[in-house]
Amino acid sequence: MATLGNPTNTIAVLQKYQFHFQKKYGQNFLIDANILEKIVDAAGVKAEDCVLEIGPGIGTMTQYLCERAREVVAVEIDAKLIPILEQDTLATYNNITIINEDILKVDINAIVQERNYGKSIKVVANLPYYITTPIIMGLFERHVPLESIIIMVQKEVAERMQAGPGTKDYGALSLAVNYYAKPQVIMTVPAGCFMPRPNVDSAVIKLTCSERPQIMVSDEKKMFDIIRASFNQRRKTLVNGLVNAAELTITKENVLAALEKMGLSSTIRGEALTLEQFAVLTELL
Ligand code: SAM
Repeated sequence: MATLGNPTNTIAVLQKYQFHFQKKYGQNFLIDANILEKIVDAAGVKAEDCVLEIGPGIGTMTQYLCERAREVVAVEIDAKLIPILEQDTLATYNNITIINEDILKVDINAIVQERNYGKSIKVVANLPYYITTPIIMGLFERHVPLESIIIMVQKEVAERMQAGPGTKDYGALSLAVNYYAKPQVIMTVPAGCFMPRPNVDSAVIKLTCSERPQIMVSDEKKMFDIIRASFNQRRKTLVNGLVNAAELTITKENVLAALEKMGLSSTIRGEALTLEQFAVLTELL
């Protein structure tokens, strides 16, 4: 078994299996041991943990996780990577389960039930950037029991997750992340730490999940429908965003009455509201 996390062994594995990178799967493999150590340290993986890794690639980070965790479940969409993982890079570990599936189609709650008796798991992922938001939202909205999520994302996405009201990066993702978790940027990762080099800068962000959301709201789904509708048309007022949203049946009069009760202007935009204000607005509507 080759120890990965360096260019030489990564190239050797890729050549041995004549592996060709698939752009559609966002394949950029980590080749820097220092970064890998830091990610696993930040995840705080302990000997009793069950870890879900999304997109193991050739198993670089997976090796680090298998060394530290009780059990690792790795979900990889690309069937060409499965023999590499099973027969080579992860062959010596007996604490790994490899699932060849699209993470968006996997019943993660069932995995948590089966592998960790329903107790919270840690998620570690170096994700393809185009599915970062659906994956994170999917984990949150399906109420997967989570301790934390450590993810490599595009630097801009990390900034969006930490953004506050009134800033250009503030949006539905910032609100969702802050409703379910506490975000903390761990480090930025230069393009040279990946093979092949991506065109964008990356950052590792840790989302520490709370057992209970940061604020109380009686209809979570409705609040997120309202949030999404408020940011759909960034240049429009909150009133127009909500009234024009297909998934909501809210009248202009209702929104105006709610805003008045909250002491907010009728021309306010969604980006000016805090999470708490969206919760109050949801209750009023
Ligand atoms: N974790 C490895 C590393 O750090 O070197 C690989 C990271 S690479 C950026 C992303 C990985 O996610 C690829 O192996 C890709 O095939 C896989 N992937 C892409 N879309 C996926 C999906 N929907 N479900 C599961 N895996 C996916």
